[in-house]
Amino acid sequence: MTPIKHASATKHPTSTQAPSAEARAYDAEPYLPSRGGLPAHRRAAADCRGCPLHEDATRTVFGKGDESARLLLVGEQPGDQEDRQGEPFVGPAGRLLRRALDESGIDMDTTYVTNAVKHFKFTRPAGGGKRRIHKAPDLREVAACGPWLRAELRLVRPEVVVALGATAGKALLGNSFRVTKDRGALLPMPSGQEDGPYVVATLHPSAVLRADDREGAYAGLISDLKVAAQALAEREP
Ligand code: SF4
Repeated sequence: MTPIKHASATKHPTSTQAPSAEARAYDAEPYLPSRGGLPAHRRAAADCRGCPLHEDATRTVFGKGDESARLLLVGEQPGDQEDRQGEPFVGPAGRLLRRALDESGIDMDTTYVTNAVKHFKFTRPAGGGKRRIHKAPDLREVAACGPWLRAELRLVRPEVVVALGATAGKALLGNSFRVTKDRGALLPMPSGQEDGPYVVATLHPSAVLRADDREGAYAGLISDLKVAAQALAEREP
């Protein structure tokens, strides 16, 4: 994983003319604060313009939870409810995740939860209407938002990270990641640090909600989360 670069100060690019979408830099790095913990990063992320997703979303949804959590969970991006409320995993997927963690022996209140991408990406129905339909972020947007995720990992220093779904898996493990192939195993984080966290990948809870075999998908989620719970138990201080 690319090491975190420390900007000398929070830098906000300036220009006299709005660049085209193609010409815009996709990079959150210039918006990161040069110092400070999670609260400073959360405040700075509120003004991030590191990719075009801030233009239509309501607000940045930064990570939340125990700032010294042993377990950090990474989802894809905020959904409609998260965008409105400004907190990750507060919608239906979040409720399912809380229940699955509980059944796996993990108290969600002891974890830190975040997303690979911090703004909600959506489209409108073809015939018009106000409904906002989730649209997956592309690789360029995930890469642009990467500095925030890496900062959260550096500041929380979890022992185990759970990647919820393909977008989180790619953000943490690289573009060759496949949920079907890589889920449920304790994988080393490619950070280059010997004491870096392990990663366990699984389905995103919204994929469980959409699955034809919802019961089977939920059982698979629990099984993968138990791998993370077991890894934590074995490393109990
Ligand atoms: S999605 Fe990430 S990189 Fe893009 S504007 Fe939002 S916080 Fe910045």
